[in-house]
Amino acid sequence: MNNVILIRFNEIHLKGGNKKYFTKLLLNNIKDALQGVDCKVENIQNRLLVRNYENDDEIIEKLKCVFGVHSISRAVELDNDEKIIKNYVANLHIDGSFKCNVNRADKSFPVKSNDFAADLGEIVLNNNKNARVDIHNPEITINVDIRETGKTYVFNELIYAYSGLPLGEHRDGLLLLSGGIDSPVAGFCMAKRGLRQDILHFDSFPYTSKLAKEKVITLAKKIKTFIGAKYMYICSMTKLQEEFHVNCSTEYAINLLRRSMIRVANALCKKYKYKTIVTGESLGQVASQTIESLTTTNAVAEFPIMRPLISFNKNEIIKIAKEIGTFETSILPYEDCCTVFLPRNPVIKPKIKDAEKEEGKIDLVALLSFIIDNIEIIEL
Ligand code: ATP
Ligand code: MG
Repeated sequence: MNNVILIRFNEIHLKGGNKKYFTKLLLNNIKDALQGVDCKVENIQNRLLVRNYENDDEIIEKLKCVFGVHSISRAVELDNDEKIIKNYVANLHIDGSFKCNVNRADKSFPVKSNDFAADLGEIVLNNNKNARVDIHNPEITINVDIRETGKTYVFNELIYAYSGLPLGEHRDGLLLLSGGIDSPVAGFCMAKRGLRQDILHFDSFPYTSKLAKEKVITLAKKIKTFIGAKYMYICSMTKLQEEFHVNCSTEYAINLLRRSMIRVANALCKKYKYKTIVTGESLGQVASQTIESLTTTNAVAEFPIMRPLISFNKNEIIKIAKEIGTFETSILPYEDCCTVFLPRNPVIKPKIKDAEKEEGKIDLVALLSFIIDNIEIIEL
């Protein structure tokens, strides 16, 4: 009898011919997440398994952050042998209501699931005077998973993870990360759909402080394991914002800044082969997130922009931020480049033509080329 950690996945089962590929991807991501932890991870046909470990709590905490994992159980591993399983169940101490759940993936196992569950239930009742059956709302569930591999797993609890799809092999996404609450959550949401991302942050030093930059690096490190990030790009918008401020309509300041952010992102996507840009925008949240504002931003995008929070309310975003541990850092009161030279009345319904007219007042190409050439790259 071995103690093991059983890992189940769900969406991967729907992948038809690609199931093998996705299972391998998940296995590799789990191995990455458990790097440096003493244990062995195995693929056991429709399940993954961790064995030979010392600290199960540590492993489970790490597994909970791997996308594609549906649920996790501490289990014992037995042979698919009626007598051995019954003997094990006979020695369980059950106090209170219980039920037995049998899953018979091994069709050569001689007793059908429901019959075997009834047999096991009887054994529990015979051996525990305070045990009683409750099918609908039991305090304890004895799960017996009889696998095709010849091994059976018995466990009580199911610890749920985030499900979703495993992070892809390539870092296809570029997450625009501000110091706020929304963008780390946006990165998390896209990662849940398998999008591995690197990070792009814009600052406006010396109008934004070194501490503000440190805060965003801290945030980046916090979400790194979720989103699979390796690099963080830091781009200074100072020169550009100063030019906008002196030469262009102040009510277009944020709109022009956002279009410039996307142009910088375009350049990085081309250079480093990212396929999509991710932002934390939510429809109507602020002036720069109206349909018209998003349209003028989209107009300069050369790659699809993913906005997973577009329909989220702030309280829904905050709930996730707390869950993934970014909220406390996000609310530290440092300035963002979007708050520098903030117009009192930002345009709510900007027009592409007017944005272009404003951009025509400065040498945008030269300025963009300068700021892109001076991007700092940090390995996370
Ligand atoms: P957040 O809470 O993520 O800062 P927000 O509600 O403050 O979002 P905006 O400031 O309008 O909204 O930013 C919208 C999105 O634009 C952000 O979610 C982020 O993806 C991107 N963004 C804004 N500022 C920056 C920045 N300094 N660096 C990188 N991306 C940024
Ligand atoms: Mg912001």
